[in-house]
Amino acid sequence: MSRKMLIAGNWKMNGLGADGGELAKAVAVGSSAVGCDLLICPPATLIYAAGEALSGSRVALGAQDCHAAESGAHTGDVSAEMLADAGCSFVIVGHSERRGDYDESDKIIYAKAQAVHRAGLIAVICVGETETDRDAGLAESVVAGQIGGSLPQNASAANTIIAYEPVWAIGTGRTPTAEDVQIMHSHMRVTVSVSHGCDFGDNVRLLYGGSVKPGNSAELMGLTDVDGALVGGASLVADDFLAIAMQCP
Ligand code: PEP
Repeated sequence: MSRKMLIAGNWKMNGLGADGGELAKAVAVGSSAVGCDLLICPPATLIYAAGEALSGSRVALGAQDCHAAESGAHTGDVSAEMLADAGCSFVIVGHSERRGDYDESDKIIYAKAQAVHRAGLIAVICVGETETDRDAGLAESVVAGQIGGSLPQNASAANTIIAYEPVWAIGTGRTPTAEDVQIMHSHMRVTVSVSHGCDFGDNVRLLYGGSVKPGNSAELMGLTDVDGALVGGASLVADDFLAIAMQCP
């Protein structure tokens, strides 16, 4: 079993025109010095420009969300097939900001992940507990429940990545201890091994996300069951994003 580390950048709702192309270009140029896999997920308006900037580089292109349907009367939405057509190979689904802002349930996220697979892309399924959950000692059961509800039954380790993102760590500058991250990731691996088989459990990449920065990534990325990071704020600065990637073992 060997899981290649992946550092993924979630630009969220940031970037206009030339800025997005320049940021993507800077990541592409710096990527030659990095050993792990790299992915950037710009907002939908910058996917084309970022794709052009990444052309010929080893940095993959992804989106931050998709609709579950292939096409149709869904004003404002974008399908996984459209994202594939635009050059994406990954789609994030179930980010806590979408679970929170749009009341996205595990059932909706399951359908979106299926859509990503239907389009031949890789789904990055996000899970994570709130601070209230953690304080109540419910972090592991909440995450297991989210995995159980949003991981498609026929998912494979090749078309699926799971990102553990404690809601209270996103954009706050706070992170769980390295020990807590390892405990959660090990728990997640056991959970998916039971539900989807040992081959899936051994090979699926589990990312950590939540205030990952160049100053804390070496410790977090060195943990046994952490196979990379989903990076928000620090992915908006090419040097920081690349510094995180360079610290991957
Ligand atoms: C995220 O948005 O997925 C994220 C982890 O954000 P940040 O790195 O800014 O905490």
